[in-house]
Amino acid sequence: MAGILFIISAPSGSGKSTLVNEVRRLVEGLDFSISYTTRRARGSEEDGREYHFTSREEFERMIAAGEFLEWAEVFGNYYGTALSALEMAAKHGMDLLLDIDVQGALQVMERMPDAVSIFILPPSPEVLERRLRNRSQAEGVSNEAVIETRLAEARTELRKLEDYRYALVNDVLDQAASEMRAIVLVARGEATPAEGDLAAQCVTGARSERLEAALTSFGVGVDVG
Ligand code: ADP
Ligand code: 5GP
Repeated sequence: MAGILFIISAPSGSGKSTLVNEVRRLVEGLDFSISYTTRRARGSEEDGREYHFTSREEFERMIAAGEFLEWAEVFGNYYGTALSALEMAAKHGMDLLLDIDVQGALQVMERMPDAVSIFILPPSPEVLERRLRNRSQAEGVSNEAVIETRLAEARTELRKLEDYRYALVNDVLDQAASEMRAIVLVARGEATPAEGDLAAQCVTGARSERLEAALTSFGVGVDVG
């Protein structure tokens, strides 16, 4: 039987990769789909670990051959989830996490309506900017234009929040990781009542105080009612 599909989206720099790594440490049986991308590897990234780094020609061949569940162009590069990632996870009896942008997420929600969608928000634009700067410093690259583009893009992406079942504010890592773990356990039907309550507080329509505060700080009013 096919496993559960979790769609995770977040503005770049929100801490999605950090959070996903933490949740995979806490919960067994969660596979991570390694996307294909035409962007260059950065920092310590390795081909086949963070991404399958590929050429535009090869990516376009894969599109034409129908090899993607979804794909999108993000910041001028192609990114896509291969159907083979789903097949592999199902074969190994694993649930699968997809770390994809909002355009790709909407495609997957349409094709796989049972997928569990989670949007991760940074607590404020100031924190997002700091995380983007810290990360680029750690990687030895400092590109103001890239940081500005990503901050502007974050506001646009936040407006898509209402399409996601859950919304998590990644302020304190441990707390956000516990919330994501609770969401996974609820989807599996394995949650305790306390974990069920925790996940329920993260339902987008529940509009928790933390969610409201984050949205207000970005100046984004989202109608999730
Ligand atoms: P993303 O995958 O969303 O682009 P990363 O996981 O690369 O983001 O995180 C961006 C930066 O923010 C990294 O330097 C990471 O260590 C830091 N970070 C992530 N989550 C938190 C958190 N909860 N608190 C403080 N720093 C964080
Ligand atoms: P980054 O270049 O920072 O790793 O990722 C940039 C954006 O591309 C992020 O929003 C990330 O979620 C998104 N992304 C990564 N892989 C995929 C994918 O396979 N499909 C889509 N649609 N987006 C992806």
